[in-house]
Amino acid sequence: MIEIINKLRQDFDYRIGSVSNSKQLEQIRIEFLGKKGQLQGLMKELRNASPQEKPKLGKDINLLKQHVEQTINDKDVSLGSKSFKNSSENFDTTLPGRKELTGTLHPITQVMEEITSIFFGLGFQVEEGPEIETDYYNFEALNIPKDHPARDMQDTFYIEDETVLRTHTSPVQIHVMENREPPLRIIAPGKVYRCDSDVSHTPMFHQIEGLMVDEGLSFSHLKGIMNIFLQEVFGKNTQIRFRPSFFPFTCPSAEVDIQCVMCNGKGCRVCSQTGWLEILGAGMVDPAVFQSVDYDPEKWTGFAFGLGIERIAMLKFGINDIRLFFENDLRFLKQF
Ligand SMILES: [Zn+2]
Repeated sequence: MIEIINKLRQDFDYRIGSVSNSKQLEQIRIEFLGKKGQLQGLMKELRNASPQEKPKLGKDINLLKQHVEQTINDKDVSLGSKSFKNSSENFDTTLPGRKELTGTLHPITQVMEEITSIFFGLGFQVEEGPEIETDYYNFEALNIPKDHPARDMQDTFYIEDETVLRTHTSPVQIHVMENREPPLRIIAPGKVYRCDSDVSHTPMFHQIEGLMVDEGLSFSHLKGIMNIFLQEVFGKNTQIRFRPSFFPFTCPSAEVDIQCVMCNGKGCRVCSQTGWLEILGAGMVDPAVFQSVDYDPEKWTGFAFGLGIERIAMLKFGINDIRLFFENDLRFLKQF
């Protein structure tokens, strides 16, 4: 009988070693510990043993039973099925998890937010306006009458005779001035539309328009604000120059250049060997614009400026084709 007990123990130890999942383990549990299992069979055999042998054999069988229970229990824990009773048997707790992909802001949005926050710090409020405008707000109120040659400067998308996709963010100025009294300090970021497409133009692009109206504002205030803004965006040592220009809604008008960020003014392909890059248009608000919103041009003066976000982003990130912004190629977008 002792031999049978030892044989059973060897058998169990051999079988438990090859168990690799909880289903196999359960089979062994039933086979050894079940009501009709091997150990129960041994207990029945024990009745036939002689009274002298009984205590010793009973003790051995109990020790074997303890050994079987403990080993099955340990195996159960090591298989992980104790703490994951309900999950699939093929669940591998050692596999690395799948990483969530995090998105980033589009480079245009990044630049727009950066510019907005600079002006926010200078006390400017953000205003928005409709992208579909009447001819009046897009042109006439901005001192661009029907027969004005300046209409040729912008290739306009007409929806109807009197309705256009706005060609600039300047109409927002008119909406704001019609509804509010000066002093004003606003910026208006948003989409604008022009019938144009090549490496530096897309039919839709983004502008930021700025307007400040107060008593006693002069061109030097405009220069001061432009200096602060451009040095924030392109660095403290950025050189800036103003060139006389023409816009129907400002007088005097200027185009503002920065020293080329690619060649530091030495002259390169990007700046057409001039050493300067045109960055934005600006000027003192034309009295005719004030008259169209019933502001007294004798009392109030103001300045306005407008710039293209894509152009700033291209210079800031060294991008040479504006169309890349709108292709939504993740390999491109992930770089920012
Ligand atoms: Zn250059």
